[in-house]
Amino acid sequence: MLIIDRVNMIHYMSKDNAPAARCKSGDTVIFHTYDCFQNKLLPDNASIKADCPSLSNPATGPLYVEGALPGDTLKVEILNILVGPLGIGGSEPIGTFQNKMVEPIEYKIKRIQVEDGFAHIFDNLSVPIEPMIGVIGVAPLEMPIRTIIPGNHGGNMDCRQIKKGATLYLPVFVEGALLAMGDLHALMGDGEISECGLEIEGSVEVRISIIPKTGRIAPALCVDEKWITIASKESLDEAAKEATNMMADFLTSQVNLNPYDASLLLSLCGNLIVCQKCNSYKTMRMELSLDILNQLEQKPELI
Ligand code: CA
Ligand code: CA
Repeated sequence: MLIIDRVNMIHYMSKDNAPAARCKSGDTVIFHTYDCFQNKLLPDNASIKADCPSLSNPATGPLYVEGALPGDTLKVEILNILVGPLGIGGSEPIGTFQNKMVEPIEYKIKRIQVEDGFAHIFDNLSVPIEPMIGVIGVAPLEMPIRTIIPGNHGGNMDCRQIKKGATLYLPVFVEGALLAMGDLHALMGDGEISECGLEIEGSVEVRISIIPKTGRIAPALCVDEKWITIASKESLDEAAKEATNMMADFLTSQVNLNPYDASLLLSLCGNLIVCQKCNSYKTMRMELSLDILNQLEQKPELI
């Protein structure tokens, strides 16, 4: 099995990154990843100010997929996510907007043990972990994009549905696709309101396949019997509009609904959800049940 060590670390998604490894369509690959602070905050005496990795968000990779060409879709099946024994949460007081105008609020980190599938958040509160991938994407066609930025190439989408059992579909913009991932979270609520999930090191096992010549332009996801479009824009409103438009386009172009029926269906059965509102580009998703698509005789797998 091909394993990519986390020393192969990038901070930009870029067509100029040298491949850390190469695979063929159908191969299974394991990515080992640092947490988003490059593990620098794990020691007891580390402080977010002193070391200031400032959400450097490294991603492991990139992986060159032999035969992947611009216009193809990269199908990434997430077979497993394992996380380490210690994670980092971050917080600032909620409801302190007035105070913020007067004095800066201190951002605090908290080291949180993960053990036997539970995160011990407080002394009297342990919660089952739900590991997910914060950053996963391919190289964009043009300028390099920092791994902290989400977009049509994927990147820092912080979508909690990108988890074990999910299949992520990413557009291919450059030869080889150049897939990279990192920023695992053992837990994160939709919205990621404090700019931190439960940031943690770990490993991700994926199966990579190429679907030729789809012309896909943005990420989509299939998980938990749902088809999901994902959009990242400078505002939540724009991201909401884009995620909705992508699902509506799918329904009109692939399922052959007219625009009014697509809108009706999404208003009655689609769920528009905030993935993250903390990055400079915000991410939202539109979810539609596969059961509905199956009744309309459409299989997203073929897209
Ligand atoms: Ca993130
Ligand atoms: Ca993170």
